[in-house]
Amino acid sequence: MTDDPFENMLAQMDRAEEYADVDHGIFERLKHPERTLKVTLPVELDSGEVEVFEGYRCQFDSARGPFKGGVRFHPSVTQREVEALAGWMTWKTALVDLPYGGAKGGVICEPKELTQNDLESLTRRYTEGIRRMIGPEVDVPAPDMNTNPQTMAWMMDTYSMYEGHSVPQAVTGKPLEIGGTPGRVEATGRGVSLVTERLFEYLDRDLSDATIAIQGFGNVGSNAARLLDEAGANVVATSDVSGAAYDPDGLDVAALGAHVDAGGLISEYVAGEYRGNADGSSWDDPDEITNAELLTLDVDVLIPAAVEGVITADNVDDLRASAIVEAANGPTTVAADEALTERDIQVVPDILANAGGVIVSYLEWVQNAQEFSWPLETVNAELERRIGDAFDQTIEQYDAKELPDLRTAAYTLALERTAKAHEYRGLFP
Ligand code: GLU
Repeated sequence: MTDDPFENMLAQMDRAEEYADVDHGIFERLKHPERTLKVTLPVELDSGEVEVFEGYRCQFDSARGPFKGGVRFHPSVTQREVEALAGWMTWKTALVDLPYGGAKGGVICEPKELTQNDLESLTRRYTEGIRRMIGPEVDVPAPDMNTNPQTMAWMMDTYSMYEGHSVPQAVTGKPLEIGGTPGRVEATGRGVSLVTERLFEYLDRDLSDATIAIQGFGNVGSNAARLLDEAGANVVATSDVSGAAYDPDGLDVAALGAHVDAGGLISEYVAGEYRGNADGSSWDDPDEITNAELLTLDVDVLIPAAVEGVITADNVDDLRASAIVEAANGPTTVAADEALTERDIQVVPDILANAGGVIVSYLEWVQNAQEFSWPLETVNAELERRIGDAFDQTIEQYDAKELPDLRTAAYTLALERTAKAHEYRGLFP
């Protein structure tokens, strides 16, 4: 077994190849990224010191359209990870049928140790480093782990300064004031909530009072928690780097959200130091558990919403959830996947479950191209239609081809669509 996310992505492709209607030559071609740029980023920090960072942008495949994918700031970023994530973006945009290819960027850094000025300088220097390879019709960055609308504003501004005019369409996930779309910030979490509802409909089970554990309470995890709570589900556990909170009767998601929005940690929330709504009305009294314990809770749905590689051969036998909805990219290793399939635990794969973000990025990009803005209701309705269609198509493929699991169904669809685009376009020269 391997911890390498790129090897994991290739192994997922291999699992699907046997069932996919794809020419073997094209399949081999799809295992290699088109290109990866590595950039060195010297930045003068607020402390007066110059620190040299390293960043990447991988453009994996563009047969179906311009490259698309986020940029993450994280200490564990590696070239292989960025390439894996770019591959997953390629399968994701194909599965939800957006006219895009896949890309990803990353900078090795610990954002918690950087000031706002440092982050701005680093973002601008990274954008300068990759600006020759991005652009509204070429490759369109977006937020990912530890990047947000402000990061996108700096990227958009840096790109625009070199162009000599504003180019809002160069990135998505921007603040509303500079061409962002309503609904983008919560889009990934909303998509996770929508596919969980669809899964319950498909399984003919009732979501109301279903118990849910969510690993990670960042942008994706917290919005998924809020929306699932609103949909009637019972979010019993969630976590951040400091630890996990567990209450079998259900967490007060609104109080927890307010605490985390104000900069609080989950371990502090559990300790009761800052717990409760502003008016002190929270009834929450959670226990502290570890992130590892959260993964093995006896719940109806487990939602990994943090980093890749958390469900592995080491813990898969201890998992007790009856379904998994992958809000993070690549949270399950292939060895664990095989065990989950054997145990008949339904997994909604990442490329479907977390596609809400890139779907709404596409809607933002379209609005920028049209120089026309849509209301939130239009954006949310279009998100629901698109992710719902992708869910239905995945289920249809799973049933029609009697596939072993939903990931194989999603991959066969994505690989077939991408391969078809390659076939039509042919080989250059
Ligand atoms: N970073 C998000 C993802 O992994 C969104 C990418 C985008 O909007 O382009 O899907």
